[in-house]
Amino acid sequence: MAKREKSPEYSGLVVKTQSGFYTVQVDQNQGELSGKLVTCQLRGSLKQSSKKTELCVIGDHVTLQLLEDGSGAISVIAPRERVLSRVEPSSYAGTAAEREQVLIANLDQAVFVFSAAQPAPHLRMLDRFLVAAEKAEIPSITIVVNKIDLADVRPIFAVYEQMGYTVLYVSAANEQGVDALRTLLASKISVFTGPSGVGKSSLLNAVQPGLGRAVSHVSEKLSKGRHTTVNAELIPLIGGGYVADTPGIRSIAPWDVEPDELDAYFRDIHPYVVDCQFSDCTHTDEPGCAVRAAVEAGHISRERYDSYLRLRQELAAQYVY
Ligand code: GDP
Ligand code: ZN
Repeated sequence: MAKREKSPEYSGLVVKTQSGFYTVQVDQNQGELSGKLVTCQLRGSLKQSSKKTELCVIGDHVTLQLLEDGSGAISVIAPRERVLSRVEPSSYAGTAAEREQVLIANLDQAVFVFSAAQPAPHLRMLDRFLVAAEKAEIPSITIVVNKIDLADVRPIFAVYEQMGYTVLYVSAANEQGVDALRTLLASKISVFTGPSGVGKSSLLNAVQPGLGRAVSHVSEKLSKGRHTTVNAELIPLIGGGYVADTPGIRSIAPWDVEPDELDAYFRDIHPYVVDCQFSDCTHTDEPGCAVRAAVEAGHISRERYDSYLRLRQELAAQYVY
């Protein structure tokens, strides 16, 4: 009587990767498996199609077949809308061997967290984050300034608001702005990163009990296993959305940015570039540079221009033509 059936197919989102195993959250409207987590492996055919280790990453939309033992086999990975990558750590110093490592697919939002004090805002790091996020074309970029109970730093961040970034001033200590942060994170896949000690865990815990621990727990596990496949996780939010964390995301940096395209990722510098005398102006010492003129005139902040110069130098030293 046993009827041979084709194993049922489901669509879902990869929420965790760990040494060749992928946890997929099945999409809604998929019968009794809706929203459930299924541990999957990749079909052999998929593995052969690429030699990349990051064939499947968190944020990937996949099709899976349910196997008899309740596990799944991923047969299709949907084309990615966008990826956030970094240079693979093992080859960081050797320029020739540099290789892209995809950390997460289909990211909706980047949230960069700094604190008003203890530690003081590290704006160079923020500028690097912003370049990386602009390069990756992440649709939404927000700057969160925590610990505003300690100092008023609005003047310092005003320049970022002027160039169009949303800046959220919050305090995990007195819950100021926490509702706004919760709303910001809802229904999106977000990266939430910043230097240590700025209050990321405290903020996430304020948004949702236990969330901070869940996220830092992932990072902790990850930093121990250096040479294993990068483990990464999307931590679900009550009411929809996820916060992503991998150690790579913590140290997000511009990857694969050519020195000559860097000005495009500085929102405040970019508008002046068309007015430079030379079309390939590097904005360092050329005559007729509209960017430097704008700095002199106070339209571009010196700190931002300085960030641009430093980053340009760094990229030029790394870049292989
Ligand atoms: P993380 O390393 O970014 O996750 O930072 P933590 O959440 O561990 O916080 C670092 C320290 O800053 C802890 O001692 C927190 O109690 C403190 N802290 C976090 N948020 C605030 C805040 O809004 N105001 C003040 N005054 N202290 C805070
Ligand atoms: Zn110029």
